[in-house]
Formats: sequence, structure tokens, C-alpha cells
Amino acid sequence: MMNPEDAVYMDNNATTRVAPEVLEAMMPYLRDYYGNPSSMHRFGGQVGAAITEARKKVASLLGAEPEEIVFTSCGTESDSTAIFSALQSFPDKRHVVTTRVEHPAVKNLCENLDTLTGHKHRLTRLMVAADGTLDLQKYEEALADDTAIVSVMWANNETGVIFPIAEMARIARERGILFHTDAVQAVGKVPINLKELDVDFLSLSGHKLHGPKGIGVLYVRRGTPFVPFLVGGHQEKGRRGGTENVASIVGLGRACDLAAAHMAEENSRVKALRDKLEQGLLSSIPHSMLNGHKTDRLPNTANISFEYVEGEAILLHMDQYNICASSGSACTSGSLEPSHVLRAMGVPFTAAHGSIRYSLSIYNTEAEIDFVLEKMPPIIAGLRQMSPFWKADA
Ligand code: PLP
Repeated sequence: MMNPEDAVYMDNNATTRVAPEVLEAMMPYLRDYYGNPSSMHRFGGQVGAAITEARKKVASLLGAEPEEIVFTSCGTESDSTAIFSALQSFPDKRHVVTTRVEHPAVKNLCENLDTLTGHKHRLTRLMVAADGTLDLQKYEEALADDTAIVSVMWANNETGVIFPIAEMARIARERGILFHTDAVQAVGKVPINLKELDVDFLSLSGHKLHGPKGIGVLYVRRGTPFVPFLVGGHQEKGRRGGTENVASIVGLGRACDLAAAHMAEENSRVKALRDKLEQGLLSSIPHSMLNGHKTDRLPNTANISFEYVEGEAILLHMDQYNICASSGSACTSGSLEPSHVLRAMGVPFTAAHGSIRYSLSIYNTEAEIDFVLEKMPPIIAGLRQMSPFWKADA
């Protein structure tokens, strides 16, 4: 097993380290306060009070009311709940608008709505430009009288590109259409104030902001028609059945507190580290390029293509130095398919295959950036020596 202390961890869009303060807050609810929050006795009641506190903290980070926060098991469940809820609330409306670059949690759900619901749907998947941004005019044109819901991510998990959610939600509201945003990658990294937005549903996930895995939230704006996805007990005011994951809820509350406190650092120190890494790689490695808009982007994410080499091979070489990142290609059934996000952006084949996503967090150091900047050029040069594409072009 790799020693966690040795990891040069730059894969925070995949998952983050649980903050020590979060773990500390959770422990009493795993060890001592095991009562059921729905029980009538005080032992359970005090656990219920901890959930109430956590709910306030999540609401505060989002600029929401505590009653608008529904705890779920993950970002994926929150996404499914929002989209199914809208479709059930408006059975006559069978049109869904989304983008070509959503996370599989939204993408695969939307592409399989007919099978999953037994009803025929019309799906519009908005194209993105070469820099990963959306065309607002095309978005407006896509909205129709039978549109039940728009589901557009706040920030892309692969490129970090941020979409104009405020504007898009406003346009949907004007047309009387529900608006959902998958903000799993945005929460904790960029300021969000739902009081100022026309967003009806927002999804987040604990493990992307230094909270535990297996806990998510769906924000449901007060007054929004809602049909639960998990039907069972009266938990979450009947909006999500199932005994609450108390320790994780408490942990998420603490993580939200910390995120509010660290937001400025995320936007200054982390961004400066990311910029140093990005500029260093682009200037020291020929035939490398940034994927995604230069500025409308999360402060922690850099997606860089190294032409004529395979992302998976790069990752294996990085792994030898304990450097953890992700590639934009996934090895499925023996064939290396470039990611749907890079394909939608029209990134050329030779570049899409060699893309690496570096995603930083408040725990990264300048020494780690220097280490990666030292190791990457020889890794890429070595792999290119073996690449038939490189040789053909060189
Ligand atoms: N949405 C986005 C944008 C994500 O990046 C992820 C996780 O990678 C998810 C949804 C799914 O979240 P979870 O793992 O909590 O289901």
C-alpha cells in the first residue's frame, strides 16, 4: 500500500482528503451518540439536534434556508432526485435540456430517461465551444413549452469550466421552467448565494469538499414542486426516506464551515499554485495545450493535453513518483476512448488521448508543484520516444 503521506495528491476533483476537523466532528456520532434522530427519547433527540446544526451550516454556505436542504447519499442521488421530481411534477412536459459535457450522474440518467420512466422524452444536449463554454443564445432557442427541467452543471469536473448559471437560471425562470444545477465541483471552491439566484434545485457531494463519502445534499427552493425519489419514512420532512447518515451529515456541516473559511485561500493561494503548475508545464513541454477557458474556470483545475502520448501511460509513469492525477481517457473494454467532454470541445484525437487533469486543494504545497514540474518533462519526452504518432509527425 502507498503511504498516504507520500502521495503528491492532485486528484481532488475525483475526491478529497477528509479534513482532520471534519473527522474530529464525526467521531462522537460514530462512537458515542448512536441514537436514532427520530426516537422520542433524549438520547436520540440530541442526535437530531446535531443534524439541525449541520443543516444550518450547509444552508449558510449556499445562502439558502435550512428547510431547503435535503440530505441524500451522494451527488448522484441528488441529481436523480431533482430530474425525476420535475418529470413527475409535470407529466405533460417531456422535454429536458442539458449539455454534452455533464458528469455521468446527469448524462447517463438523461440519456436513459425513456427506459427508466417508461415514457418517451425529448432531450436537448447543448454543444460547447472549443474552450468548453456554452452559447446562451442556443440555450434560449432550445427552451420550449414542453420543457420540464433544465439541468446544467455549475462547473465541469474535467476542465473546471464554469457555466453562467445565474443567467441561465434567470432565463429558465422567465419561461416558467425548473432549473437544476449539479454544483458538485463548485461548492466550496466558488461563492454561491442561492438567495440571489433563480435556481430551483442544486446538488452537492460531501467528498468533494473535504467531507466524507456517501453524503450529498439536494437544495430544493421553497415552493418548488417536489416528488421524493426514495419513499419510506418521514425523514427529511418526507422528502427522502431512510435513517439519516448522522456522522456524515455532521461531518458535512463542519466541511461547509471550513469551506466558507477557506474560500479566499482557494481563490488566491490554490489558484496561484495551479497557475504556476499550468504555466510551468505549458512552457517546458512542447506540443502541450490547456483544455478549457483560460479564466472562466475553477481555481484548482488544470486540464492539459500532451500531444502524441496516451494519458493512461502518463498516469502510470506519474504513479511511480506517487503523483496522483486523472486522465481524460478511460480504458473501457480494451479500447481507449477519449472523454465525452474533450470530444464535445472538439479537442483533436492526438491531444484528447494525452490529457491529464491536475486538480489541487488547500493541502497542496509549492514544493509539490516544483516536484511535478521537475518530473513531467522527462516523462512526456520518454513516452514520445516510443510513440509512433510522435515519430510520424516529428
Ligand atoms: N457531478 C459531478 C460534476 C461530479 O464531479 C461528481 C463526482 O465526480 C458527481 C456528480 C457524483 O457525485 P457522487 O460521487 O457523490 O455521486
